[in-house]
Amino acid sequence: MVYQGSGGPPPSLARATGGSHMGNKPFGFHFYEVLPNGKRKKVSGFRINPGEKDVPFVFLDEATPEAGAAPSIRIHEFKYNGTFGNIVICNSHRSEGCVMDKALERDHTCFPGCKQPCTRIGSKESIKGGWKWVATGIKMKPFTYQKGPLAGTVLPYQRCMLMVPDKQYEMFLAYREQYASMGGLRGKVFNVRREDNQRSSKIGTLWLPAGEMTDEQMMEKFEGVAADYGLPVEQYIRPVDYQYALRELTNEEMGAAAKWVAAENNVDLNQSTSVSVATASAKTVPVDDSESDDSEVPF
Ligand SMILES: [Zn+2]
Ligand SMILES: [Zn+2]
Repeated sequence: MVYQGSGGPPPSLARATGGSHMGNKPFGFHFYEVLPNGKRKKVSGFRINPGEKDVPFVFLDEATPEAGAAPSIRIHEFKYNGTFGNIVICNSHRSEGCVMDKALERDHTCFPGCKQPCTRIGSKESIKGGWKWVATGIKMKPFTYQKGPLAGTVLPYQRCMLMVPDKQYEMFLAYREQYASMGGLRGKVFNVRREDNQRSSKIGTLWLPAGEMTDEQMMEKFEGVAADYGLPVEQYIRPVDYQYALRELTNEEMGAAAKWVAAENNVDLNQSTSVSVATASAKTVPVDDSESDDSEVPF
């Protein structure tokens, strides 16, 4: 069968024909920043493992309480091509809606709010993106690559984006307010812990204030890792360019991306959702953050 659409064949077909499906991907589903050498570099999301304790994180944004001091977005996090941690910004705020909501639809799984017996069992549900407040920081705990060309290499510090889900935002807003008169969150260090539970928030469940660093201290501490990363240290200790990193896909780009995701998820984008959409739009559900947890992602 010859694939007729745009955006290349779905990964399953590319694999079957022996093609290099990695090379044929329309784009990586990640956040990126552009380095001075012109290359794009993936910016990973901050995460810690269940049960992990006292992982130091230093904020790079001032993140004062004023609106717009740090961005918020709605994102889809999903498994794609065998790996977790894929991210795409949800377009559901547009009048055209978001085709990825449909591409990621799944069978209803009961949650604590479900009426029992649940009438939704057996139905398909669209998955809306989850809201996140976004900041940039540096995770100050060494990470050792387990596989790939860098296996064995130790990364002492990790520049990353913190994506705070709605249910934890209140705590971060409190910190923003608390530190507003002290120049904001920039340079503030937190020790992060996570409950010993696979379903707990992957950005940690307890954020304990643990001191602060001046720009001079950050420059000194991160000079080496910044050089390895490919950024001048002055830029390494600044938030990522959100205009670039958090760029929304156009409807055309999203349509192409959704085809690949839908193919892998066995969703027919041209079919209306079998039960749920036909009966009530209220049956869309927000993404559960814990669903996208994954040990394959180095964060
Ligand atoms: Zn969406
Ligand atoms: Zn249910």
